[in-house]
Amino acid sequence: MRALAGRRALVTGGTRGIGRAIALELGRQGADVFISYRTQPELATQVVAELEALGVTAGCAHADVRDAAAVEALVETAHAALGGLDVLVNNAGVTDDGLVLRMSEAAWDTVLETNLKGTFLATKLALRHMTRARWGRVINVTSVVGAMGNAGQANYAAAKAGIGGFTRAVAREVAARGVTVNAVAPGFVLTDMTSGLSDEQKEAILRLIPLGRYATPDEIAPLVAFLASDGAAYITGQTYHVDGGVVMH
Ligand code: NAP
Repeated sequence: MRALAGRRALVTGGTRGIGRAIALELGRQGADVFISYRTQPELATQVVAELEALGVTAGCAHADVRDAAAVEALVETAHAALGGLDVLVNNAGVTDDGLVLRMSEAAWDTVLETNLKGTFLATKLALRHMTRARWGRVINVTSVVGAMGNAGQANYAAAKAGIGGFTRAVAREVAARGVTVNAVAPGFVLTDMTSGLSDEQKEAILRLIPLGRYATPDEIAPLVAFLASDGAAYITGQTYHVDGGVVMH
């Protein structure tokens, strides 16, 4: 039997990059999967078709994770479409880089609201269902940058470090209800988010990575699927790095 058969998962920002890879890996392992999109319904429809081809139930809906009403509608739509909600993957995220001396308030707000507030909103709403069912998995996608900092990404580093603290606090709140809360911290992954880096920036980043290369989204997804599985029942409040050795604990 597939490890996630019968589980019902919601992945925010599941249209491309890491979110898409996570959605498909959950589906390959037997979960029914609902994804959210913000700007590209056609990509969402493609991912849904790929999931259905794996033999699982799938669906998608529009939601900007910064908007509480939209996130509430998303969680309830996913719950209704799948007949329950066991797994939430808070993946939606953005960057808006600049040195802090020149960073606009808008750049700060967008990055904090998408990465951190979005994670809070979706988690709070999903937990209503999970705590009632006495089983649940929340997996937050943070970043190596939340642990090491990165010049030009004060807003993103603050948001992602905030996700670590949020993960530990919520893990303690819901542990007695059978719900685990963990975070996965990818290193530098080849997606649209990193495609805009200059050659100089790419070279500088490569020098930080002991494994000597960028990750692909498919190298992040299996750990997320494991944390969603029964095999991870005794793990909560943790942040796991999948970063080629950039940060070693
Ligand atoms: P990506 O290719 O840029 O995809 C980002 C996803 O998030 C898209 O589906 C996007 O939807 C969605 N999204 C952005 N803003 C949103 C909003 N306000 N509401 C709802 N959805 C929103 O990025 P990625 O590289 O796959 O990143 C996925 C996650 O991994 C993020 O949390 C990111 O911070 C994290 N991460 C990435 C890397 C990396 O090197 N790429 C490293 C560490 C961590 P639209 O297409 O509709 O905007």
